[in-house]
Amino acid sequence: MSGEDKTYVGIAPCGCIRTVCVDNLDHKKDTAATIARCVKLGLAVERWETAAVRSAKWDCGKPEYPFIVRQASLL
Ligand SMILES: [Zn+2]
Repeated sequence: MSGEDKTYVGIAPCGCIRTVCVDNLDHKKDTAATIARCVKLGLAVERWETAAVRSAKWDCGKPEYPFIVRQASLL
């Protein structure tokens, strides 16, 4: 395991996290692809402490951004 203390999050306009991707240096390509997909979908991408992501608000139930990726390690 390396570099899993930071996580990229894709945040919808309502403030919910809709996408998460642990900033794992072993999976840089996957991380870049996920961030690119967030930007396409209009999500704001930020880099958070992984611990903060776990306790953050996830989904208010609004349907406007149905794309959700949740890594099993963060559930
Ligand atoms: Zn929401």
